[in-house]
Amino acid sequence: MANIIDGKKISQAVKDEVKAKCAELASQGITATLAVILVGEDPASQVYVNNKKKACEYCGIRSLSYELPADTAEDALIELIEELNARSDVNGILVQLPLPDGINEDRVLDTISPDKDVDGFHPVNVGKLSIGKKGFVSCTPAGVIQLLKRSGIEISGKECVVIGRSNIVGKPMSMLLLKENGTVTVAHSRTANLKEVTKRADILVVAIGKPKFIDASYIKDGAVVIDVGIHRGEDGKLCGDVDFDSASQVASYITPVPGGVGPMTIAMLMYNCLSSVI
Ligand code: NAP
Repeated sequence: MANIIDGKKISQAVKDEVKAKCAELASQGITATLAVILVGEDPASQVYVNNKKKACEYCGIRSLSYELPADTAEDALIELIEELNARSDVNGILVQLPLPDGINEDRVLDTISPDKDVDGFHPVNVGKLSIGKKGFVSCTPAGVIQLLKRSGIEISGKECVVIGRSNIVGKPMSMLLLKENGTVTVAHSRTANLKEVTKRADILVVAIGKPKFIDASYIKDGAVVIDVGIHRGEDGKLCGDVDFDSASQVASYITPVPGGVGPMTIAMLMYNCLSSVI
């Protein structure tokens, strides 16, 4: 039976470290400020935004909230971001995704100044990650690295397989594992013989977006399994992309859903907000 990687505990530790550093900065008169923009009334996005605001409050980061109606014009949103880019008292800008239909997400995200892009989605920050320069890193994959490191799991020299190649999870995840000297393979929907590929992995990161897709038959004995997926089943319960009951029989370490990768995303956002002022 696998050891459980406790994302709640590790994310709390990260937030407490950020909180301590923010308190130290506050005593020097420095406060990080995050501007959070929500367009429309998507209930899931409202929950995410509220959780981000609560985490800011906990850590001692000032948050400014911009809640705009769903019919906001793209140009008006761009104008708001440009104003926030120009404000010296705003260090981080976050636009909650997804945006309503009709708004060009790429244009919006590309407008955020790379120096304030705490989500790490701007092409400049993605480029910096790919050439090993310091910049903001996408929060979910950055959180996975923290889960591995803080659980004492060695990445260097290990066979790492990432399933999924999205811009916000799979691709930055593969670049971070490479930076940590893992030997990285990225699998996706066109990968032939997926099981053969995943069974090579010492560390398997699953970001497919399909509930309970990966069971024990995809996993090498003793592998570390990180489940990025999050889904709410018809029974109202949350589950991941990994079939936890089956996978935990063969893995050495595994993240649960909920309580694994999920809480790390906000913790790393707080870390990025702190980095925006130091
Ligand atoms: P996405 O944009 O839908 O990407 C899914 C990836 O999985 C794609 O690259 C796709 O390949 C690949 N894929 C789909 N079916 C496959 C199959 N049968 N075999 C192999 N690969 C397959 O999803 P995402 O945004 O990366 O998110 C992935 C999961 O993580 C979702 O469940 C999402 O809810 C969750 N998530 C969680 C957090 C968190 O904070 N915990 C944050 C972000 C996302 P192609 O590229 O070939 O289509």
